[in-house]
Amino acid sequence: MTKISKIGGEFALIARVTKPVKDKNVIIGIGDDTAVLKYTQYKYLLWTVDMLVEGDHFNLKWSTPEKIGKKAMEVNVSDIGAMGGLPKYALISICIRRDTPVEFVDKLYKGMYQVAKKYDFEIIGGDTTHGDLIVIDVSMIGEVRKNELASRSNAKPGQLILTTGNLGASTAGLNLLRQKKKGISIKKHLEPKARLKEAQKLIKKGVNCMIDVSDGLASEVKHICEMSKTGAVIYKEKIPLAASTKRDAKKVNKDPQDYALNGGEDFELVFTINKKDLRKFKDSKLVGKILPKKKGIYLLDKGEKKELGHGFIHF
Ligand code: ADP
Ligand code: MG
Repeated sequence: MTKISKIGGEFALIARVTKPVKDKNVIIGIGDDTAVLKYTQYKYLLWTVDMLVEGDHFNLKWSTPEKIGKKAMEVNVSDIGAMGGLPKYALISICIRRDTPVEFVDKLYKGMYQVAKKYDFEIIGGDTTHGDLIVIDVSMIGEVRKNELASRSNAKPGQLILTTGNLGASTAGLNLLRQKKKGISIKKHLEPKARLKEAQKLIKKGVNCMIDVSDGLASEVKHICEMSKTGAVIYKEKIPLAASTKRDAKKVNKDPQDYALNGGEDFELVFTINKKDLRKFKDSKLVGKILPKKKGIYLLDKGEKKELGHGFIHF
């Protein structure tokens, strides 16, 4: 028996079990925020799936069914947004316990429909079953104009790496909850929001390389580098942190920069731009630079090169 951690974790596992996609209608298969398929003359279809598991992605003690429903939708919208697209349709699979109250499911769907209304997409099906844990698995389809597609594989050496906002808050919130402490970050963990509007603005400014932060800045930058065949440097001092995240991390004696790099679920966007365009992105924060592959991937901490780390480790 081989442990998943032994072979290098989640992504090594996916690489090991999957095969190259042969179908010519698949523009992007495995490796980006969504799969991309041929669709119409001017548009591609985006297709993604993301699962929330009780005890891992949500906890009934801390959240409400409405918030859980919203989160299940927002995390999928986030992936569609990171490709430059807009959500259109969702399928919802739920696994509930035999004794899960009807009212729980009522509220779960109330939350999901609120998000569908907000972003103007529809729930068009799903699946319902029972088990020992509650699981909510959403599959979402979106559309993107061909000339607005953003991919993890479009980064070029010399480009700057930016993020749309502060990082680390979600993990700070999770750790406050675990230690029964209070703080603003808790809301960031329980009620994540896709940066769909921001993604659309970036696309209109010509951004074509983007990823959403689900597993931490370190992990997302590594994904960009892998898909773009580049290296990268992240400037540790420049990692944007809200004052509340610093305060909340302190309450649990943890390093907020570590949360930003290796925590995840912030759902900010990480994207690359050409240096000459920097003034067009005043609302975003510069965190690093894309390098040629041979320079490697590293963290620059007060002038010293360090390991970037691995992002959130699922296994
Ligand atoms: P994200 O964090 O943006 O949702 P992931 O990191 O979960 O993306 O997945 C990375 C890539 O691996 C995606 O292209 C996804 O479709 C693919 N992938 C993830 N899990 C599996 C799986 N079990 N089988 C096949 N492909 C997978
Ligand atoms: Mg993603």
